[in-house]
Amino acid sequence: MSAEPVYLDDTTEIETRVSDLLSRLTLKEKFRLLTSPGRLRIYVTAPIKRLGIPAFKTTDGPLGVAMHSSGFKKNTRFPATVALAASWNRDLIHQVGVAMGEEVRAVGRHVLLAPGINIARTPLNGRTFEYFSEDPYLTKELAIPLVKGVQEQRIAACLKHYAANNQETDRRGSDSVVDERTLHEIYLRAFRAAVLEADPWTVMSCYNKVNGIYGSENKYLLRDILMDKWGFNGLVMTDWFASRSIETTDGCVNAGLGLEMPWPLRYKTKSLEKALNEGRFTEETLDDLIRRNLRVMMLTGLLDRPEKLPQGSRNTTEHQILARRAAEEGIVLLKNDGNLLPLNAENLERISIHGKHMHKKFGGLFKGGSSGVSPPHEVTPREGLANKLHGKIKLLPHDSFADVAIVFVGLDHGRGGDSESADRKSIHLPEDQVTLIKKTASVHERTIVCVIAGSPIAMDEWIEDVEAVLMCWYGGMKAGDAIANVLFGDVNPSGKLPLTFPKQLSDSPAHSTGDPKNFPGDEEKRVFYDEGIFVGYRWFDEKNIEPLFPFGCGKSYTSFEFGDVQLSKPNLQGLDDKLSIKVGITNTGNTAGAEVVQVYAHDVHSTIERPPRELVGFEKVFLQPGETKSASILVKADDLAFYDVGKHDWTIEPGDFKFLIGNSSRDIHLDAEFKYE
Ligand code: BGC
Repeated sequence: MSAEPVYLDDTTEIETRVSDLLSRLTLKEKFRLLTSPGRLRIYVTAPIKRLGIPAFKTTDGPLGVAMHSSGFKKNTRFPATVALAASWNRDLIHQVGVAMGEEVRAVGRHVLLAPGINIARTPLNGRTFEYFSEDPYLTKELAIPLVKGVQEQRIAACLKHYAANNQETDRRGSDSVVDERTLHEIYLRAFRAAVLEADPWTVMSCYNKVNGIYGSENKYLLRDILMDKWGFNGLVMTDWFASRSIETTDGCVNAGLGLEMPWPLRYKTKSLEKALNEGRFTEETLDDLIRRNLRVMMLTGLLDRPEKLPQGSRNTTEHQILARRAAEEGIVLLKNDGNLLPLNAENLERISIHGKHMHKKFGGLFKGGSSGVSPPHEVTPREGLANKLHGKIKLLPHDSFADVAIVFVGLDHGRGGDSESADRKSIHLPEDQVTLIKKTASVHERTIVCVIAGSPIAMDEWIEDVEAVLMCWYGGMKAGDAIANVLFGDVNPSGKLPLTFPKQLSDSPAHSTGDPKNFPGDEEKRVFYDEGIFVGYRWFDEKNIEPLFPFGCGKSYTSFEFGDVQLSKPNLQGLDDKLSIKVGITNTGNTAGAEVVQVYAHDVHSTIERPPRELVGFEKVFLQPGETKSASILVKADDLAFYDVGKHDWTIEPGDFKFLIGNSSRDIHLDAEFKYE
């Protein structure tokens, strides 16, 4: 009997197995590993039976395992990424990553096409709900635990969509024209940090061009930056059909593209053969790509004995509870006049309920695009309230004698809402919803608005009319229970906005000029990122524009007081240095709750243009009534750096800096000075 080949021996070290398998592949087999088997199998690669290599399988992301790869009503629908981000809770997001990894395992797939880490450049982006934030620091701090959690299950995470894929209008043809500093400092920063700190196994290239070159053939982005500069050693796949508009096969190979999806266009065997024979790429480059693909297959255990792999599970009670907890922690209390919330069930007899969103469900095949997950059930807000109140309080539509009114409004995953392949047309709620809010508020003295949406909503036309506003996002399959728990105070809200909410669209950076060349693009589909590094709160701070709600804000049912601040040392020296900041924080109210202590850095004397403040640290602290804790926040010098275009690298100018510490980007309670040397 012949000995088992090295590549099948799961006790042998991965690189040795990869080299062994690579040496056995024929040229044709290598080509087959660069794409899918064709039209009917659009999420998988072709098996190579001769060598016992099974199909390598992907699934969307990012709200759990998407229905297209797993069937109807089978999987946990987790809150949308933006809702997770609003929790500002790294541990919680790590748990969600683990649970998502378990669900992917349970459906027999190997890659979760998540997280999406594009930056919210415009509030109109149809996919804001699939991304974390407008801020690269918050994005990477939350993407890192998510990636780690998923990959602990030996499922590959996939950072997408690399890069500067910040709108859906003309997404397959638009060209993001962005200067080098902005590209690195805002749009690549979270990708870089996630690669360096979480070692994601796959990256998805974007549909759009970046400075004239499509993402999947962009050698600068893929080979030079991602692979050579950051040391990424996993595989890059196209977004689905992203290679359609690309002309050359060798352009993609030489750029570092390892997997063309969903079927061969540039990577047809004939085209690959021809380009290789004509010397347009080398076998060495090809082998590098194959090596990467095989490495990810090994990392995910494709060729391991099944008993060696995590078993996975889906839609368990634990996952459902986690989905609910994550939804609860992401809900942001934006307004609460006269402490109307939390509602006290003892004092209420009737609640008047309004708005179609009380009955809405969001899961389903391709609902919102590729991310659509179909859970076995989905708790609507109306059902959540009913589950909580057990008929003890009457829930009546349009009841003018009610003690309080709740209006459920928002967007949904329909085209023009929070949805893939189109952008929103406006940041306002649909007119009938605004009318409903105003009408309800004119009848009721106490009106609460629950907004269900995945992107910023303008509220100026109605917010003065109502007493309380909760931003509920898309909270996943248990959203209704989560909302009811927050309304009635079983859960004290602790979410913070990961996005600035502008008063009007023209206040936000991509829309300030009103010129289509800045959004959604000129006649040649070029989108000029003229606002440069001033994205999100960086813009509002720099231009002194009052937002409707600032980045990082969110109220609580209790109150917090900031105490002293202490730095572990007075100076930072070199980009690898770090220091820790200790901040005393006390819960001065009567309810247990959590506060997010946020640290922004301000460069006091800078010779180059820098934003007035940038988030460089945060910690979520849970406190009992009367309790004081010392929040410990680690700040890395690297996070204070800017991208120096002269050096094509990160740098910090020596001199005085300030930490601004508070509970939103506009509520700073403490500061501390330090030097960079
Ligand atoms: C989306 C990706 C997704 C892919 C596969 C594309 O339309 O942009 O995010 O992962 O489809 O479904």
